[in-house]
Order: sequence, then C-alpha cells, then structure tokens
Amino acid sequence: MSLIRTTPPRPLDVAALFPQLAPLARTATRLHPRPGSPTPQDSSIGGPLLWPADEPWPHCDGPHTDGGFSTEAVQVDRRVQARVAMYPDDPSAARYTPEEQAILERLDRMSFDDEWPEGPVAMLPVAQLYARDIPLLRTLGPSGADLLQVLWCPLDHPEEFYMPRTAVFWRSAAAVTDILTSPPVPPSVEFEEYVPVPCVLAPEEVTEYPNSSELSKEMQEQLSDWSRWQAAAGVDSSYASYPESFYWSHLSVAPGWKVGGWPQWGYTDPTPRTCPTCGTAMDPLLTIATFEWDSGYRSWVPYEDQADESSSQPTRVQIGSGYKQQLYICPAAPEHPHIELMQ
Ligand SMILES: [Zn+2]
Ligand SMILES: [Zn+2]
Repeated sequence: MSLIRTTPPRPLDVAALFPQLAPLARTATRLHPRPGSPTPQDSSIGGPLLWPADEPWPHCDGPHTDGGFSTEAVQVDRRVQARVAMYPDDPSAARYTPEEQAILERLDRMSFDDEWPEGPVAMLPVAQLYARDIPLLRTLGPSGADLLQVLWCPLDHPEEFYMPRTAVFWRSAAAVTDILTSPPVPPSVEFEEYVPVPCVLAPEEVTEYPNSSELSKEMQEQLSDWSRWQAAAGVDSSYASYPESFYWSHLSVAPGWKVGGWPQWGYTDPTPRTCPTCGTAMDPLLTIATFEWDSGYRSWVPYEDQADESSSQPTRVQIGSGYKQQLYICPAAPEHPHIELMQ
C-alpha cells in the first residue's frame, strides 16, 4: 500500500489574477511525513540511512553543552509513538518489544552522568530523500546524485541560533553495496524534539509563489488592493480589509516539510542568502518544519487528513518555539557548503 496525500486545489489561480506573478511560479515537493517503519531503501524522516559500510559516519566536533536526554531512550519512545500512530486500534502497539525492553534495562543500569563524551558526537539521521520519489532533487543536487541524506547534531551549540547544526550528503544509491547496519548513536540529545518519529513520506508537487515580503513594492500594493480581488471567484470576503493575508495563507507558500519552492518568512524579514564560497544567490533545498499546518493554513490540509487534523506534527520535531529550519544550496556548485536559517 502506498501512502498518498493530496493538497486541495488553491481557492483561485493567483497568476491569472496577477499576471506578473506567473513567471515567479516555482515547484515545491511537500513531503507529507507520516509515522511508519521506513527501511534504508525508503525515503524517510528519521529513518535508517543507506550509508556505505566503509564510509565514516558523520560526527560533530562541537563545542557542546550538555544534552538532557538519553538518545537511545528517546529513540525507543519514538518507535512506540510511530507504532501507536500506525495501529491506533491495537493496544499491543504501545508495548515495548523484547529488544526495546533490553535497551531500557541496559540504560537503567548505566549512570548517565558518567557517559558524557569529550570528543566529537555522532550525528542523527533527519531526512533521506530519493530522487525517484522527489524528482526536483535532480535539478538541485550534483549531476549523477539520486539520493540526499541530511543528518544533524542533536546538541545545541553556544553562540549559534537555537536550531540543530545539519550535515548534507549527496550520493548515487547504486554505488552503495554494503550498508552500515549499526550506525553510532550520540549518547544524549538536547531536546526530545531533536529525535524525529520515524516517518515514511508521500511526496506531492505543488506550485508556490513568493512570500509577499519578497515582491516589489508595486506588487505588494496590488495584493493589498481589495478591488483587484473582488471580481475573482473563490475569494473569501472576510479578507476584504486585509487581502494580502489571503495571498499569504492560501496562495503563496505551502506549510510543512518540503523540498524546493519559495521560503516562508515571518520570524525575520527576508535576508540575502549568498553562497559563502562563491557568492551566488542560493536556492531553498529542504524545509524542516515543526507543523504541517496550523489554523492560518487550513486550506493546505490534505484531503486524506481532514477527518483527523491531529496529525499536524507527525515527526514531533520542533525548531525553536515552533519555527522552521530552512537549508539552502548553491546552484552554481551544489557541493559548496549549504547554509541554514530559522524562520
Ligand atoms: Zn554538535
Ligand atoms: Zn557556491
């Protein structure tokens, strides 16, 4: 059974109403993560990676502050949460497996305070995305790469923004013959929210337009002029006094985890994103989101989730106090280091 999620059509064709927007249309792929049990051969959030056995596992050099939670204990909780979400009617889904029980008993016998490492810390898988599921990756990544892997350090770093530091890897899946079966695990994590619930994906392409703060002054004035909207079918007249919020909420940028498209702004005004290596303007690669939707973005709830909107935080990842972490890639040379922003 394959997972499908379908975003309802937008209430109106905004590029027909404002033709200057038409050339700014961009494709984004909404990932639609849902709790599951992904394998290394699947696209996933928080799932096992197709990682070559003979390649060193990524570590973060810090400097680190102390983490508050045992990674393995949180991982056991996350697997239980995934099972409960997958089999809500089966009471046995919440029970620990013998393997999970053994992990928890071993952790109980350890003194957590003695385990704090001095050296580099193993990173945690965040996203594994195959180009066969998300074709947009072929245009964003290096030529020949068909697999994107994103990991992060689950500890905070003094002097950095309050979001996890990520590492990005591109590879050809066919080149991985021997898979690393037991990757190292960091001893602790800063927050439980830095360990995603294992999720499978239901990628879906949608069309996006820029956040209004990235548009010209003239275009912003047109969007806030109700007389421009009035004649169009599909406009909710409750937006008459503030029509640009209709654009913001329903017609421009999709909420949730996604690849490509336009960035959402709100935490700060738009800032220039130039490649630190070559100065080229960078493209959005991956958005790591706290929520798949919230009250302002109801029109983006997939048909399949409209009966149960409690699934708005399927990964249980939280960035800051409910923000998004945006990763950007250099279009001139995708191998240049990426940058990241919190929004
Ligand atoms: Zn770190
Ligand atoms: Zn560059």
